[in-house]
Amino acid sequence: MSQKRAVTLAELLEQPVQGIQTLKDTYGSWDVHESQHVDPDQVQAVLGELVERLDDNFPYFHPQYAGQMLKPPHPVAMAAYLATMQLNPNNHSIDASRATTAMEHEVLDQLAAMFGYPVDYMGHLTWSGTTANLEALWVSREIAPGKAIAHSADAHYTHARMGEVLGIDTVGIATEADGRMSLDALERELATGRVGVVVATLGTTGLGAVDPLAEIIPLAKAHGARVHVDTAYGGFFSLIAEDLAPETARHFRAIAQADSVVVDPHKHGLQPYGCGAVLFNDQSMLRYYHHESPYTYFASTERHFGEIQLECSRAGASAAALWATLKVFPLTREGLGAIVLPGYRAAQTWHGLIAESDILQPYQRPELDIITYLPRVRTMAELDRVSHAIFEMAADTTRPQQTHLATYVVTPQQLAARGIELEPDAERARIMRSVLMKPEHEPLIPEMHHHVQMWSRRAYSVTH
Ligand SMILES: *Cc1c(COP(=O)(O)O)cnc(C)c1O
Repeated sequence: MSQKRAVTLAELLEQPVQGIQTLKDTYGSWDVHESQHVDPDQVQAVLGELVERLDDNFPYFHPQYAGQMLKPPHPVAMAAYLATMQLNPNNHSIDASRATTAMEHEVLDQLAAMFGYPVDYMGHLTWSGTTANLEALWVSREIAPGKAIAHSADAHYTHARMGEVLGIDTVGIATEADGRMSLDALERELATGRVGVVVATLGTTGLGAVDPLAEIIPLAKAHGARVHVDTAYGGFFSLIAEDLAPETARHFRAIAQADSVVVDPHKHGLQPYGCGAVLFNDQSMLRYYHHESPYTYFASTERHFGEIQLECSRAGASAAALWATLKVFPLTREGLGAIVLPGYRAAQTWHGLIAESDILQPYQRPELDIITYLPRVRTMAELDRVSHAIFEMAADTTRPQQTHLATYVVTPQQLAARGIELEPDAERARIMRSVLMKPEHEPLIPEMHHHVQMWSRRAYSVTH
């Protein structure tokens, strides 16, 4: 049995750097052109300045950073990215990326299997969730020109924006008190006959709410609309469906029946930014991508990714990094799932502590690993002041003592829908939000809760 332990990027670096140098040397040496020469002392100074400037950040890598959707890539992903980046393949065409195009097919097969897609799915990696969603919405427009996009009012703003880019109408469907798309409101909209595609978000960016996909699919089909799943954030929770609430798990399992799906390996897949993915469960979508390119595809008759994507150049290093990561952490409950699960448990535990607190109260139950909560106050204006003060004070102490949180804006109506009645002396107020996407959060929850309660008491007293 091999012994597992934490690894650092520093200890992994030598192998890919040396290995690629050896590979390059097999082609014979050449002189680097004078124009590319540098003064090593100057470079050292610049890199020193860079490291200093990077200090001007929140500590996204630290478990005490429980704010936005931010975490560093795994060292395996970084080492694989670095190895590949030295050759800089471009997964646009096979000619420009033989090895990494093959790796991309392998990781896509694994993503497709995770979602229960058929073996003849079609898809590719993208630079981001935004471009992945744009592509799925563009295909929907080609299939049903002139028809609108329906998404939940809590969906990522990208859908409304991409509707503008594509020149199609978008409609925001009201959400229920749990942050999920209202099926009644969706049905009313579908009945108008103007909807071409319904976007279901499995893991909304704000609340981590999971739209009722298992019901959305038959409803949309009955009205002749496609279903696109935006699970850019939540997709990898499919791996731990059996650990989620049954009501949540059902909708992750329904992804298999959706027409297209987007997931971001650069969120819960341990990758550096620049790694999204879009998958279609039907190869016939290929016909929408036809284009002529006399200057790119020549060394292969196989399909190039450039022929089935909106983007042109795309980092082969992204595919290699994901490929290496999934070799070490396969798409199973015991593999990558074991990294996603502790954050889910951390959110449930913290939610429980907040529900019992005399100074804090939950906004809603977390379906994934994002929690939202608020101080127990009387008015909207007070809520906003105290929340902002908690956010600032928790981070304004010596570095090892800091807790980094985020905020989320709500209305009196949204609070009332969750049984929290506040005097409406302001139209909006910030509440507290934490994304618990690092497995290292879990053991820290009691301590973080204790800290946040302490800061909440102080914030309350300084704002009153
Ligand atoms: C993050 C996110 C996006 C946008 O993806 P990017 O990779 O940031 O471009 C879209 N939808 C959802 C649900 C997201 O969480």
